Amino acid sequence: MAQQEDVFKKLVAHCKEYGFVFPSSEIYDGLGAVYDYGQNGVELKNNIKKYWWDAMVKLNDNVVGLDSAIFMHPTIWKASGHVDAFNDPLIDNKDSKKRYRADVLIEEQMAKFDDKIEKEINKAKKKFGDEFDEAKFRETNPNVLREQAKKDALHARFSKALNDNNLEELRQIIIDEEIVCPISGTKNWTEVRQFNLMFSTEMGSTADGAMKIYLRPETAQGIFVNFLNVQKTGRMKIPFGIAQIGKAFRNEIVARQFIFRMREFEQMEMQFFVRPGEEMKWFDYWKSFRLKWHKALGMGDENYQYHDHDKLAHYANAATDIEFRMPFGFKEVEGIHSRTDFDLSSHAKYSGKKIEYFDPELNKSYTPYVIETSIGVDRMFLSILAGAYKEEALEGGDTRVVLRLPAVLAPVKLAVLPLIKKDGLPEKAREIMNTMKLEFNCQYDEKDSIGKRYRRQDAIGTPFCVTVDHQTLEDNTVTVRYRDTMQQERINIDALHAMISKQVTGAELFKKLLE
Ligand code: ATP
Repeated sequence: MAQQEDVFKKLVAHCKEYGFVFPSSEIYDGLGAVYDYGQNGVELKNNIKKYWWDAMVKLNDNVVGLDSAIFMHPTIWKASGHVDAFNDPLIDNKDSKKRYRADVLIEEQMAKFDDKIEKEINKAKKKFGDEFDEAKFRETNPNVLREQAKKDALHARFSKALNDNNLEELRQIIIDEEIVCPISGTKNWTEVRQFNLMFSTEMGSTADGAMKIYLRPETAQGIFVNFLNVQKTGRMKIPFGIAQIGKAFRNEIVARQFIFRMREFEQMEMQFFVRPGEEMKWFDYWKSFRLKWHKALGMGDENYQYHDHDKLAHYANAATDIEFRMPFGFKEVEGIHSRTDFDLSSHAKYSGKKIEYFDPELNKSYTPYVIETSIGVDRMFLSILAGAYKEEALEGGDTRVVLRLPAVLAPVKLAVLPLIKKDGLPEKAREIMNTMKLEFNCQYDEKDSIGKRYRRQDAIGTPFCVTVDHQTLEDNTVTVRYRDTMQQERINIDALHAMISKQVTGAELFKKLLE
């Protein structure tokens, strides 16, 4: 665990050193849980958004896009339930004065049981080697059974407390489980209180009578209130979806995990409108489509898992998360929810407008049901970097830090490097660069030894380096050096474009999604 925390620290440092992520307002000592994206970060982020947008909007003929405003009428948040119910249970440690989410403290306690089970299994694996039968071991080993039983009991108690909204019971669980504050090491806890996560501001001048409005905590509501606009103007037939990418804001209580939990972040959400009664079919469909989207990136299928929710939100009748193995354990990257007709019905009630769909096949009107897929751009960014960051030992005792980013997401696709700074090599390199940059994000670099330049490109995850040498001037060939294998190959400049294009455009990945 300590080793993994170490990796996480290195990753955060790497993000800063190579222009991926900076703390916001750094010269003023930063602003809690707010971050800026640097020159490489913004490229990676844009590529993630494009991969999502193209997979959702371009690939699915029945999904269209939207870009709604951040500011919305305040009654929207009353209708959506956020004013009354968008709360987290918080608890303070009286000695350290640190604030925690009570549910997160208990979830971390449950993860400890899993760690213990994992240790037992690894020990046994080593002991029994090829003979080892993990399923049987889980069913019969007394230590595993004991830890599993403890976890199950805690899980049942925790779920009940959450569903009953029982704050006293949440506190009691923390006391009974002897959970201590990681900073002070004490069990001196306050009561558990509810805390609303929405930021608010004022619109209009006070003299006119200012109106309290909220910074949206999710992009979804912008989609719901535009349901009729899009359906009618796009002549959309159910089932269909509306997708949107945009900023969301939450006044998170605990914000200590870099860009995992931010106060200003970005979401990519899609609401898919279906006939009532068909929502489970579509829930399963999107659950599987979304997991395929993640896995197509090639970060290792074993690093993803589904996690069903312990407590369903007030609007949902089914919900699952897609989790990724971060350096601090499996964590939610995306949520898939079956939201019933809650939002559209509620907006109809609060606005006094009829929000229904006339289904020509059934010859009747109804309020559609909704399946939502919701993923955080920043969390996706973190999961990709966490999966891609590698420190590798090389032959000859050297080491390198490399970001094994999927080529389609890499900030820079191609580096063009003249072997030396004379003999017409820089001019030739510039010439190659000028054609390639019409389509790919390229970098030109002539400073330092070629080895150092390769390392710099490895550190930002550039999949291809093209070196121009004297032979290039004679036979129009260059050396392509591949990031992952570090192998080099001589190819004709005319073949360069096709080779790179195949790797860095989404087409190959999209084929996998349609399989
Ligand atoms: P959590 O339980 O981690 O607080 P959530 O279940 O409240 O997350 P949702 O409301 O389902 O999250 O939001 C959908 C997605 O938006 C999440 O899967 C996550 O990727 C992203 N997200 C939510 N809150 C944040 C945040 N504070 N910072 C960054 N990303 C976030």
